[in-house]
Amino acid sequence: QHVAVVLAAYLVKREALELREELGSGQFGCVRLALLRSKSHCSRYVAAKALRENAAPTEESEFLREACTIASLDHEHVVRLIGVCISDGPPLVLMELAFFGDLLGYLRARRHLAEGADCAGRESFASYEEAAHVSSEALTRLAREAAAALAYLSSRGVVHRDVRAANCLVDARRSLKLADFGMARETVAGADGAPEYACRRRGMFPVLWMAPESLAHGVFSGATDVWALGVLVLELVTLGARPYGSMSPLRVLEYVAAGGCPPLPLDATPQTCGLARLCWQREAERRPSAAEVHAYLAARPLALSAA
Ligand code: ADP
Repeated sequence: QHVAVVLAAYLVKREALELREELGSGQFGCVRLALLRSKSHCSRYVAAKALRENAAPTEESEFLREACTIASLDHEHVVRLIGVCISDGPPLVLMELAFFGDLLGYLRARRHLAEGADCAGRESFASYEEAAHVSSEALTRLAREAAAALAYLSSRGVVHRDVRAANCLVDARRSLKLADFGMARETVAGADGAPEYACRRRGMFPVLWMAPESLAHGVFSGATDVWALGVLVLELVTLGARPYGSMSPLRVLEYVAAGGCPPLPLDATPQTCGLARLCWQREAERRPSAAEVHAYLAARPLALSAA
């Protein structure tokens, strides 16, 4: 009911949409580039997320609920909902297009630049310019944008629960947009009055980004999003290395339960180590807020590691 009311303002006719190539595929189905034609506005390119043909009704409502969550948010570093197509066919959710795709792919595609970062100027001006996009300033800006998005969510009482590079997008201005609100929930007051969310969702868990209390008790909060933000920072400085190296998710579970946290690269700077240590404190209450992480990064820039 609530979903239908919120999405009513976003309805788009299927005829107004021209679907183009696939941009990627995810849990619900594939994401395609699409041209959205408009009589009153300019036509624009959008990302159209489709629900698989054979999806169960519960998946359809989850899919639309994600669109509804995004519609309720308004922040420059949170992906925006453009529209939804619901009638005559499988539902489509239209989101603002992120020119550079997801952050994980973006980082990994730039690994070759890091190797020659110092001497890139000798190769060509183009690669010299590109190398600037994996500079300390660029990585720090991306981290701060993710922190700003999380600070905003926390002010709105929303827990994302799946923060990681693969769930962030990079737009044409190389600005970060937090996406993938499929697991996001409004916070509810926990037994002790603390806002937290006890998980009851079946399916896959982002174990490598999860805080000890999420792994042990299925509890999610703004503080577990901050743990994941610390892991995202690690992904940034290693240009998308897998957290915990080759350790299996089951082994990671045991390792974190025994007090472990993601290993840092040997050459990680004191700024990176300091931030990681803050975000990965065992006691959730001792972790900084996303706004504090944002402020920390203003004074202490990140730098690339060899991974
Ligand atoms: P998942 O379900 O795997 O978390 P999605 O279904 O949201 O991911 O998206 C799958 C892939 O499609 C992403 O990894 C990304 O590469 C691409 N993609 C998703 N949304 C956008 C967008 N708004 N702009 C550009 N590419 C996108």
